[in-house]
Amino acid sequence: MRRFPLAQVVLIGLAAVVVLAALWPLWAGERTARPGGEPEAPETPPGPLAGMVIVVDPGHGGWDPGAVVGGVKEKDLTLQVSQELKALLEERGARVILTRTDDTHFSRTVREDLRQRVALVAEHRADLFVSVHANQDRCNCWGAQTFYQKGGSPAGKTLAISIQNRLRERTDTTRYALPGDYYVLRTTEVPAAIVEMGFLSNGAEREKLQQPEYQRTLALAIAEGIEAYREHIARQPDVAPENPADPSPSRPGS
Ligand SMILES: [Zn+2]
Repeated sequence: MRRFPLAQVVLIGLAAVVVLAALWPLWAGERTARPGGEPEAPETPPGPLAGMVIVVDPGHGGWDPGAVVGGVKEKDLTLQVSQELKALLEERGARVILTRTDDTHFSRTVREDLRQRVALVAEHRADLFVSVHANQDRCNCWGAQTFYQKGGSPAGKTLAISIQNRLRERTDTTRYALPGDYYVLRTTEVPAAIVEMGFLSNGAEREKLQQPEYQRTLALAIAEGIEAYREHIARQPDVAPENPADPSPSRPGS
């Protein structure tokens, strides 16, 4: 077999490299272009809640209507607002699990029902738990109010204060976030808050709570509050924001 001179082999090799380099963009372009030659749509930027998993709990359901005043049932309002909230959180990039999507309950006993709602946090490795309720009282009270677990984590308190701050901005509530001792807050291992959207016992507020537009406002305030929570936690994970409802230790005589 005749042997090629070295110079000839090198020359042929170089020519092959040049031809391949010239053809490469055509081939690569063919692979990435969509059928029909349209360029790919630019990727949408991740939302402010991207990567978060949130359990939203519409309070009560099924045999348990919650508060009932003038034929208006708490369980219906909590489901309507929670579904609105789910959509808003998903728009912001979160994955949302509703504890119920229709008029059902988990158990015949309240405690077991609540236990199963909380269990969804571990099942879905959720980052947050937000339970939505409406209030009822003998007073003529009104206004949305958020609760966190008394003696719980600073993150839980941060979550409640962040939501309450947005509720104060978007609705006419003058209330502040408060600590309380509630089963779903005490037993949830991630930051958790209960949002009491308002008082069914107050006629004017009962009317508002049924309006889709007001329900959307409430859901938006909660979604924005969760965004604010995430921003705060990124900066100061162990310190809750200032809460005017906290008793001031330096206040004389109190
Ligand atoms: Zn309730």
